[in-house]
Amino acid sequence: MTNQPGHTSSTMQSQARIPMHAIHQFEQQDRQRQGVRQSFDQSQQAISRQLEFLQAQVHIWQDQCWYCTQRGLAAEHDLYQCPHGNQTAAKPWFLHVRRHIKYAPFSGCFQCGLPQMICQQWKEKSQCTYRGVMISMIAMMVHGHGTADVRQAWQQRLQGFGVDVNNQAAVTQFFGQRHGNEEMNELVQEFIWLRQRWMEAGEVE
Ligand SMILES: [Zn+2]
Ligand SMILES: [Zn+2]
Repeated sequence: MTNQPGHTSSTMQSQARIPMHAIHQFEQQDRQRQGVRQSFDQSQQAISRQLEFLQAQVHIWQDQCWYCTQRGLAAEHDLYQCPHGNQTAAKPWFLHVRRHIKYAPFSGCFQCGLPQMICQQWKEKSQCTYRGVMISMIAMMVHGHGTADVRQAWQQRLQGFGVDVNNQAAVTQFFGQRHGNEEMNELVQEFIWLRQRWMEAGEVE
């Protein structure tokens, strides 16, 4: 018992060499570093999930017409060859966007716009088989019959990015932009968002 006060004070002295506020600071920095690493891992996981979803979606809709699928019609064709293609604004919108879109460097395959992790057909000289898949899908999802609700929600979303949904040139330009620092363009982001909207709303697959 007689040693206790001396022991306590020497422990306190050795601790006192590193000021308490510095220890807190180190701990805080550690936590921050851990947080940065964690959110990096989380965003990597989110990107991997996005890519998986994207790949599955373009595979399904590559040569299946979404418009006809929703109506229980024969659907083994693309929008370009759809017998009902002239009944909505989808087809002219699709053709215009596809003709004018320019993908930012490193934002994806310059023919179809998919991330290079999914499509590397730009390396070959042939035409990319995914060309137009995302754009025609978006066209049908917002310009077909019965798409008013989703279109309105999408209009609000684009407004948040400063893009007017009725301004075709502005939408086309926006699609081609790179999404932040990711090797992805905004077309991919909007395609994923609209697909998820429709899947939540209940659609025919
Ligand atoms: Zn069709
Ligand atoms: Zn491609």
